[in-house]
Amino acid sequence: MNAPVLVINCGSSSIKYALIDSDPQAARLSGLAERLGSSEARLKGKNSDGESFTQPLPNAGHAEALNAILEHLEGRIPGAVGHRIVHGGEHFTQAALIDENVMAAIHSTAALAPLHNPANLAGISATQRVFPDLPQVAVFDTAFHQTLPPRAYRYALPEVLYTEHGIRRYGFHGTSHAYVSQRAGELSLRGAGGWLTAHLGNGCSTSAIWNNQSLDTSMGLTPLEGLVMGTRSGDVDPGLHAHLHRQLGWSLDEIDNVLNKQSGLLGLSGLTNDMREVEEQASAGHAGAQLALEVFCYRIAKSLAALSCALPTIDGVIFTGGIGENSPIVRRDVLALMPHFGFNIDQTTNEAMVRGKEGNISSTDNGPEVWVIPTDEEGRIAMETRHCVESAQ
Ligand code: AMP
Repeated sequence: MNAPVLVINCGSSSIKYALIDSDPQAARLSGLAERLGSSEARLKGKNSDGESFTQPLPNAGHAEALNAILEHLEGRIPGAVGHRIVHGGEHFTQAALIDENVMAAIHSTAALAPLHNPANLAGISATQRVFPDLPQVAVFDTAFHQTLPPRAYRYALPEVLYTEHGIRRYGFHGTSHAYVSQRAGELSLRGAGGWLTAHLGNGCSTSAIWNNQSLDTSMGLTPLEGLVMGTRSGDVDPGLHAHLHRQLGWSLDEIDNVLNKQSGLLGLSGLTNDMREVEEQASAGHAGAQLALEVFCYRIAKSLAALSCALPTIDGVIFTGGIGENSPIVRRDVLALMPHFGFNIDQTTNEAMVRGKEGNISSTDNGPEVWVIPTDEEGRIAMETRHCVESAQ
C-alpha cells in the first residue's frame, strides 16, 4: 500500500492526527482538533511547508472536525486510517482490522479504560462515517505487552478477580516501547537482545524487552501503576485508599482524582507537572522541586533495576519521551543510582543529545549501552496499520 496512512488519536473532546507517507523522508501533516463540543472548538496544525494554522470550528463534534482535517490534507488521499486505542484487554496481541467483532471487543474492555475506550470508539464511528471506503485499523497501547508471562502480569489476588473480571497487569505505551527497542536493535551492534526502555513524558513507564518481546513493564491494570509521572503518583501502598477513606473521609472519586491529577511531580514540588520548570526551580534551590527530581529519578532507577530480573542479559537502556529525550540531568541522575550495572555515559554526548537527536551516549564499548531514541508512536501506528491492511489483502 503506497498511499499515506491517517493516524488518529481520539479523546472525548479532541482528535490528534498525522498523515504519514510510506516514504519516511516525506513531510508529515499533523495537528490537533481540541475543545470539541464547545464554542471554542478549533483545529490547529502544520502544513507540509511547516507553517502553522488555526481554524475555529465553533461547536464542532468529532465528525465536523474530521471533515475539517480532510480539507487540510492538501489533496493527499489516505489509503487507510490507523486508530490509537488505549486498552485492548487480552483480546488483542497485535493491530486489528476494524469490523463489528473488533468494535464489540473494544467495547467490552471499556470498564478497564472508562475515560479512553468509549472516546476511541466514538472516534472510530465518526471516522467510518467520514471515510466509509477506507480500511480502519485499531492499534492498541496494551498489545505489545501481551507477551508478559503470568509471573509478571498476575497480581497476588484471588484468582477469580483475574478469570472473571480481567484484573491483571496490562501495561501501556506499547507502541513507544516497541518502536524504541526495535530501533535500538537496528542501530546497535548488539541487535535485538535485552533492552530496558524508559518512556518518560507526562506519563512514564519502563519495560524489559527481550528479542522484541515485552517481558515486563511498570504500568499495570491502569496507567497509574509504577513510576512517578507529571501528575500521577505511580506506586503507593495499596492500603492508602482505605486509610484516606477512613481517616480523612475521602470518597473513591476524590482519592482517584488526587492520585491521577494532583500527585507526581506536581504534588511533590508543589509547583508544576512540567519537568523543565522542576529542573529550573531545583537548580535555583527550591526544596520541593529538588525532592520531586530526586524521587522521580530514584523511582526510575529502582524500576529499571527490578525489571532487569526479567532479562537473561542486559544489552542496554533506552531513554525516550519528552523527558527521556531532552533531559541530560534525569538520564545522568538515574544511571548514577545504578553503579553496579556498569552503565557509563559520556557527559558531553549526554548534554548534546536533546531536541530530537538519536544516539548512543555510552562512553565505552564495555558494559551495557545507553541510548537516547526519540519515540515515534504515530510512525509505528502507521507502520502497523500498513502491515495489517496488506496482510488482509
Ligand atoms: P511528553 O508527554 O512526551 O510530551 O513529555 C512531556 C514532558 O517532557 C514534560 O514534563 C516536559 O517538561 C518534558 N520536557 C520537554 N522538554 C524538556 C527539556 N528540554 N528538559 C526537560 N524536560 C523536558
